[in-house]
Amino acid sequence: MINRWLVFAACMFAGGGLGLWAASEHGLVAGLFAAAVAWLAIDSFYVSRLLRWLRGEQNNDTPAVIANAIPHIPGVWGETIDRVRRLLKDRDHQYWESQARLDEFLAAMQASPSGVVLLDAQGRIEWCNHIATQHFGFDVQRDMSQHIANLVREPAFNTYMSGNDFSRDVVIPGSFSTPARPVKLSVHAHAYGKGRKLLLSRDITAVELADAMRRDFVANVSHEIRTPLTVLSGFIETLQTLPLKEPERIRYLSLMAQQSLRMQTLVNDLLTLSRLEGSPFPEANGWMTTSALLAQCEQEVRALSQVLAPQGHRIEFDNGPACELAGVQAELYSAMSNLVANAIRYTPDTGLVRVSWKMLEDGRGEFKVKDSGPGIAPEHLPRLTERFYRIDRSRSRETGGTGLGLAIVKHVAQRHGAELHIESQLGQGSCFSIIFPAVRVRQL
Ligand code: ADP
Repeated sequence: MINRWLVFAACMFAGGGLGLWAASEHGLVAGLFAAAVAWLAIDSFYVSRLLRWLRGEQNNDTPAVIANAIPHIPGVWGETIDRVRRLLKDRDHQYWESQARLDEFLAAMQASPSGVVLLDAQGRIEWCNHIATQHFGFDVQRDMSQHIANLVREPAFNTYMSGNDFSRDVVIPGSFSTPARPVKLSVHAHAYGKGRKLLLSRDITAVELADAMRRDFVANVSHEIRTPLTVLSGFIETLQTLPLKEPERIRYLSLMAQQSLRMQTLVNDLLTLSRLEGSPFPEANGWMTTSALLAQCEQEVRALSQVLAPQGHRIEFDNGPACELAGVQAELYSAMSNLVANAIRYTPDTGLVRVSWKMLEDGRGEFKVKDSGPGIAPEHLPRLTERFYRIDRSRSRETGGTGLGLAIVKHVAQRHGAELHIESQLGQGSCFSIIFPAVRVRQL
């Protein structure tokens, strides 16, 4: 500031001195006046340049435009400009930094596997991520600033939001839920700021389904074990309390053996299933011949047919070309023998069971079991591989079935990258085939 006064004084001194030299006392006054006006004019010129630059800044020009337009002014105005420029630069820096942080934060919320909705104090949508648009069926352009109650019309949700008790979540149907494909959402609100709310939504359809399946599974296992157990304990009580004759005792003991065998088979199948689910997928390097697998199946199936069908079945085996299959031998044998045993168990006496192996044109291998049994109605086909799903319960039990055979076959096929195909029509017999991928099959 002192410089400014010094410059002003120098101007006045120069103007006054010049006036005095040119026209004595009158000249001194005129010179001082002229110097003051000149100083004021120059100063005003600098101020107007400064103002023009500042107005450019207020017009929200970009930082680059503003930086280029900085006027070069000496003295105190120049210093003012310099300081203002530095302040503006700092402000720009802070602005871009907070903008970048906001962008990162929003990107993180976009990446969240849960739906995220931000509501203002009035319950209007301020922001939501992509998952939330799918869960609630929002349109990002159309529905911003809309009240959430106008968009999510589920009564349970509206009661939850108006209840202001956000210690738990609420379960509602998702926007694309249909009776055929129900979608369930868990929505949890969290209050923050001044009356604002954060809504988190999760698709819990799969979790609920898994829960229901687990409950069904436990109920089924308990039921399957309880029945033979009840029979067994009944016989034990009879044997303990009644003086039975030898033939009766032998008959009871044989029935007891049957029931305990049934429980043993069930436990074995359950253990097989849990092993299949819990172990890693087998490598494609343990090779075995298909003829050996089929021979093993044939032996078992002929014995089973003798036990179940007094007049026997017509059993045909076509081993096809000499091939090798890669996988776990015990698993592959279990899958194949389950299919062959089912064909025998569900096909009446004298019926035809054909088992074959062949190479397909694309290098894959097909194991096929065809029978002339009762066939399966189309509505049952999609559910056959579910655990404990049976069409004819009594036939399954009579023939020693556990209801887990096809579930085991499906798991083994999946673990070996193979596909299980079931074709059947009521009264026309059934055809079950496992098609192995080319990487697991080689012709010798
Ligand atoms: P199960 O031990 O009861 O045979 P599976 O899982 O092996 O259990 O089979 C499921 C159901 O599929 C069986 O209960 C039966 O109703 C039906 N099924 C399986 N194979 C055949 C077949 N070859 N012919 C007719 N029905 C079959």
